[in-house]
Amino acid sequence: MARTPIIRSLMRPHLLNLEPYEGVDPPEVLSERSGIPTERIVKLNGNENPYGPSPKVASALACYMSYHIYTDPLQRRVRQALSEYADTTQDRIVAGAGSDELIDLLMRLFLDPGDTVIQCTPTFGMYESFAEICGARVLSIPRGNHFEIDLPKVLEAARRGAKMAFIASPNNPTGDLMGEDTAREILATGMLVVIDEAYFEFAGSTLLALLGEYPNLVVLRTFSKWAGLASLRLGYGIMDEAISERLMTIKPPYNISIASELALFASLEDKELLLSRVEHLAQSRDELYKSLLEFKELQPIPSKANFILCRGPLGKGRWLYERLAEHGVFVRYYSNPLLENYIRITVGLPDENKTLREALKVILS
Ligand code: PMP
Repeated sequence: MARTPIIRSLMRPHLLNLEPYEGVDPPEVLSERSGIPTERIVKLNGNENPYGPSPKVASALACYMSYHIYTDPLQRRVRQALSEYADTTQDRIVAGAGSDELIDLLMRLFLDPGDTVIQCTPTFGMYESFAEICGARVLSIPRGNHFEIDLPKVLEAARRGAKMAFIASPNNPTGDLMGEDTAREILATGMLVVIDEAYFEFAGSTLLALLGEYPNLVVLRTFSKWAGLASLRLGYGIMDEAISERLMTIKPPYNISIASELALFASLEDKELLLSRVEHLAQSRDELYKSLLEFKELQPIPSKANFILCRGPLGKGRWLYERLAEHGVFVRYYSNPLLENYIRITVGLPDENKTLREALKVILS
């Protein structure tokens, strides 16, 4: 019908050819595509927590009786609980439907069309997607040979007027942390610096203390990874009150569903169990790293998160992904040319990691 072009002409022109974010497929789709039953799929492609949430989450959701009542737009109980967990004050916290929502809200608060936002690639793809939706200019500064941040280039971009920088630490997909000295130099430029600590619990180290000195720092965290709540969507940011006050004003009023809220409280009640699982996963990550080193065709990159980026034979990232998929093991490959030799493997349960190693033995023999 001739109506489609008319509708499209009403849309914001810069969004007409925007590529979709390449998210990970759920198990049933992987099963359908590979012909392998869902229960045999080893899903190591989404940096999810294979232990799942605390068992207290399901009981909290089942017992709740007031789903017909809107949640608190001021997030009072949520901010209180998060401030205790993060050891900060409530008015420095804003919660979102995943940390994705906070990335989006921060960009909407700070970016006008044409403003420049810095990312250090390869990195998490949502920074670019959300910035493009805002009509901002994304300046991708490639990391060095060991995936280190190119500090002189970042400082130069700040001098030229970049408004914001997004830096994940540990970085996805490289797994490395940003050093405190690097963070200080970037913060000293005065741009808004968002340090995305989605994998903080696995790394056990944070740059949050710098917030006392630099009001232009925002730290993002999430319950998707350590607490296994990826599909319940709960993230939060910690920031200067001047920023949180504005974010609270522009956010949708009921952005935290009661399911996310109940899951948050249940997870915090069961913090010890969840953190002991995180410890197991960090141990499994280090074991998996060592066992990947034994394959002469592979070069795993040391990681502080719950995944390992692994270099394979030249140009063979996608090939490795496809061969592993034939064994029912799904990892992440990238269409990004910077990563055409790589796959990213999420640390799974001990049995899943074993299945992965055995599949690799067959594939690379
Ligand atoms: N930041 C990074 C670095 C991530 O890897 C992810 C998830 N893959 C997110 C943010 C988004 O997490 P959430 O589920 O909280 O939206």
